[in-house]
Amino acid sequence: MPNGFSPFPPAPAAREAAIGIIDLMGEEYDVLVAGAGPAGSVAAMLLAGHGFRVLVLERDRFPRDKICGDGIAPRAVHSLHVLGLEEELEGRFLRTRGIRFYATRDGVTEVRYPMGSRYPDHGYVAPRRELDDILLRRAKERGAEVLEGCRVTGLLEPSGGRIPGVRAEREGERLELKGRFILGADGPSSVVGREAGLLRRDPLYIGVSVRCYMRGVRDLADFLEIYPEDAISPGCGWIFPVSGDTANVGVGFMLYAREAKGLNLNRLWEAFLRDTRHAAKKLASAEPLGRPRGALLRVGLGGAVPRRANVLLAGDAASMTNPISGEGITYALESGRWAAETLAAALRREDPDILALYPRILHWYYGRYYHYGTLAIRYGNRPAFVNPLLAVTSRFPRLGDKMGRFLMNCRRSDHPL
Ligand SMILES: Cc1cc2nc3c(=O)[nH]c(=O)nc-3n(C[C@H](O)[C@H](O)[C@H](O)COP(=O)(O)OP(=O)(O)OC[C@H]3O[C@@H](n4cnc5c(N)ncnc54)[C@H](O)[C@@H]3O)c2cc1C
Repeated sequence: MPNGFSPFPPAPAAREAAIGIIDLMGEEYDVLVAGAGPAGSVAAMLLAGHGFRVLVLERDRFPRDKICGDGIAPRAVHSLHVLGLEEELEGRFLRTRGIRFYATRDGVTEVRYPMGSRYPDHGYVAPRRELDDILLRRAKERGAEVLEGCRVTGLLEPSGGRIPGVRAEREGERLELKGRFILGADGPSSVVGREAGLLRRDPLYIGVSVRCYMRGVRDLADFLEIYPEDAISPGCGWIFPVSGDTANVGVGFMLYAREAKGLNLNRLWEAFLRDTRHAAKKLASAEPLGRPRGALLRVGLGGAVPRRANVLLAGDAASMTNPISGEGITYALESGRWAAETLAAALRREDPDILALYPRILHWYYGRYYHYGTLAIRYGNRPAFVNPLLAVTSRFPRLGDKMGRFLMNCRRSDHPL
């Protein structure tokens, strides 16, 4: 009998759910997916669409909030379009035309999508409570099984060179679930990644941010607004329009900066609201809707190793967030797609060694950009560089486009995935 399972019949109210769980515990799934953020839901949607048995284990119950800026970049719009999901966004969420960067000393740089690239000419601001719900619903419709309110707590003991499944907890019950492959898509503090020994603690690759929805924000338009202002450097702030005069407002920095400069998230948040030249004016009469909430980001590929034996990581668990822009939804969607296709090939050919391709794909496809991006943010994110750069790009739109393409990893030569 598995640990923690009672030999006594469950109470009538819990009976139905418990019967379902006991049934699940006898099965071996093709893939167990930990986490139903964009990476996990997209991987589950594609694997189930290929006809494989997939079980998603999600700690929360949906719809749930996720601390995020909610900015959907053109590159993410492209993935959502390929997955047949863009029609669910159109008309429901605020559509953005570009980004405005506010330097402390000089003018505003306005960059309009697609910035000379082949990606779409628009983005969205989509509160994650709704976006993630849409993605998970689509995964269910495609045939993925989902256990909400189920927290993965660890991995089963390795046997024969592979990890046979995960340990989890749901409504006080301890479960052991079996899968031929395991996908850790459980975010930056991934339990799957930690237990498989795949996470690294290097502060160069870990960011921390805080965000709050605010009402009464002045002069919102259909542009994302980024504030690399002196008062919060080397942190950076944002104001993303949600609807009417409501915006997603936030600020964040990389952990190595905290260690070097003693930064503190609360003080940075206060400084963003009070001491910035541009943002403080916009937010002067805004009121918070709830308290500011913080979360980690794992960026630049260097914060994790994406595979061990039959375990893969995707999204923030695999340190996939863009180290320059802090955009992670794009790369959660893309790594979810890469992971699903690699797992599908391994399942079809019954060859687990195919999984060795996955880290190679990620490093080949993103490694160079993430390497230079990590260096750029480490050494270039300071007022002495940012102010003159934005002074130039505000006067020369083509240079602004070039900067936008670099920040958002949308090269002119890219053929979108
Ligand atoms: C403040 C902030 C602002 C951001 N702004 C933006 C932005 O504007 N645009 C952008 O593109 N990116 C942004 N990001 C990054 C973005 O939020 C992430 O990169 C993205 O959510 C990663 O998706 P994911 O699927 O990998 O993980 P997540 O979205 O974190 O999903 C992980 C899921 O796993 C579940 N889970 C966690 N642990 C367990 C467990 N033990 N068992 C079961 N389930 C578990 C969680 O409940 C969650 O549903 C921001 C991040 C932060 C912190």
